[in-house]
Amino acid sequence: EVKKNFKNGYQIYTNALHVHLDEKLALESDLRKGLANDELVLYYQPKFSITGEKVLGIEALVRWQHPEKGLVPPGVFLPIAEETGLIFDIGSWVLKQSCLQMKQWQDDGGLQIPISVNLSSQQFHQMNFDQHIHAVLIETGLEAKFLELEITESMMMDAKTSTRTLQKLSDLGVKISLDDFGTGYSSLSYLKQFPINRLKIDRSFISDITNNDHDKAIVSTIISMAQHLKMDVTAEGIETKDQLDYLMQNESMEIQGFYFSKPLPSKDIESLYMKKAIV
Ligand code: C2E
Ligand code: MG
Ligand code: MG
Ligand code: MG
Repeated sequence: EVKKNFKNGYQIYTNALHVHLDEKLALESDLRKGLANDELVLYYQPKFSITGEKVLGIEALVRWQHPEKGLVPPGVFLPIAEETGLIFDIGSWVLKQSCLQMKQWQDDGGLQIPISVNLSSQQFHQMNFDQHIHAVLIETGLEAKFLELEITESMMMDAKTSTRTLQKLSDLGVKISLDDFGTGYSSLSYLKQFPINRLKIDRSFISDITNNDHDKAIVSTIISMAQHLKMDVTAEGIETKDQLDYLMQNESMEIQGFYFSKPLPSKDIESLYMKKAIV
């Protein structure tokens, strides 16, 4: 059974994985139609300098603007897309749309910052994924250095294939971020061998950071490890001034979270953040 509650204008489905089979089939055929009818939309969440003065990058986050159900979050439909193989079309659409949008912001507004795109495991592991990325860059005209791909530790389980794919992507000039860092199963030797540019510290280590000594220790360890490995760091899920103040000592850290900005439609990014994004 699908539980619904209406919060913040969103329709939130809890327990998406336990949806009944018939609900799931309905959702699948709906999603297939939705994709064909251009119902997917991208929201964009800026990433800021620690002072909040500059926008250093923008992450694209997909939503489904369902004609009756409203704005459906990715946690609801991406698992179904993954089960049914729709993830390949959705993933390609997200990539192309993200690159087009950033290219347009560059051409119209002079932006010189990267767009971050989340990848699903199947997408990352598809044959010749680097060639797909190359084709999207050519088609959209975005320079490789302005595309940042977000992968997670769990996608790197097959270390040998992953290294090869990551190396090819890195040779193209795109940037690689390790998302939700600290929650997966990555061995530290992966970090050494993968060409990774950025670690994104998972929100779960941030939420209680002002009180919890273990979280403090973990976060400062990740930061100093990243520095030694010459990787950049983003803290995700900053919601309060206290969390931000705690991180203040790390001047070079990039900050993402509701405290500075929620994910927004592209028009709102343009009206609110274009000036801050021109460094
Ligand atoms: P993620 O990549 O780790 O993205 C961060 C998620 O946390 C987003 O949820 C964002 O809205 C939310 N968030 C950001 N700041 C805060 C904060 O301060 N507090 C709280 N409570 N939440 C915050 P969203 O958009 O629902 O996305 C959830 C996940 O779905 C993403 O996690 C990502 O793994 C996946 N996802 C989103 N878009 C795509 C996509 O285009 N492709 C793929 N493969 N996955 C995507
Ligand atoms: Mg992400
Ligand atoms: Mg994340
Ligand atoms: Mg996360």
